[in-house]
Amino acid sequence: MPYTTYLVEKGSSLSFVAEAKPPTVTMPRIKALLTGSLPGFIDVVRNLNSPTLLEDNVITRAKAAGKRIIFYGDETWVKLFPKHFVEYDGTTSFFVSDYTEVDNNVTRHLDKVLKRQDWDVLILHFLGLDHIGHISGPSSPLIGHKLSEMDSILMKIHTSLLSEERDTLLPRLLVLCGDHGMSEAGGHGASSMEEVNTALVLISSAFERKPGDVRHPTRIQQTDLAATLSIGLGLPIPKSSTGSLIFPVVERRPLREQLRFLHLNAVQLIKLLQENVPSYEKGPRPAPAQCPAGAEPQG
Ligand SMILES: [Zn+2]
Repeated sequence: MPYTTYLVEKGSSLSFVAEAKPPTVTMPRIKALLTGSLPGFIDVVRNLNSPTLLEDNVITRAKAAGKRIIFYGDETWVKLFPKHFVEYDGTTSFFVSDYTEVDNNVTRHLDKVLKRQDWDVLILHFLGLDHIGHISGPSSPLIGHKLSEMDSILMKIHTSLLSEERDTLLPRLLVLCGDHGMSEAGGHGASSMEEVNTALVLISSAFERKPGDVRHPTRIQQTDLAATLSIGLGLPIPKSSTGSLIFPVVERRPLREQLRFLHLNAVQLIKLLQENVPSYEKGPRPAPAQCPAGAEPQG
């Protein structure tokens, strides 16, 4: 993936290894990405017959805030969010032997949708790479070809976002991630390192770097994305999110803004603790700090 590698190493991006919790199957992982919480193992049983997601999540909040969301890909999303998308085309993941049509069914919409101005969030869930894993494992010769197809799709989307930015001067965000990894045998569901390690790359001109500033991915939790996307989109953080704001995303904002974002995350986490941990008690307020005369705190 030469284009993606360039973005990760030298481009305007932040990249991470996001740790997914088991079960490493699609429905609970999509929920973890969007609610920031860790649903129970019951979701493995429900994975093929997913009901609407009722728990507080980024998609429901975004829709409530008037964001127009378009979705193409794995139909699990359409089951979880049946009334949330202004436009969608779901693809069944049932025919695991197919790794071409499942992705063409997503890609065929791209040229048109990227030219349109009538949406705020576009979600694409490609299935082909996962299916190749199931058929012939991570060392299959089909993998390289599929990754190169995905790399050119990422380049197409990124190029389109950059040209749109030139008109609006507002930075766009492109999120590249996997819902789960792939075991040495090509499957997933369990807790081996290969299954729980997922790639997360956040690409935006807001993360522009100086030449020579080469970075390597750091480790975070998959559940950190929900709080981070919420803060980025100006939405409330989902109530049951246990995640932390991915700090490098805001490190170039003014200090006052950084503190505000961390405060929002802390208040939400404290509320979650208060509601779920009976022994939780808020400690006594610390005595106000002594300010030297004439140096009263402002604001
Ligand atoms: Zn799979």
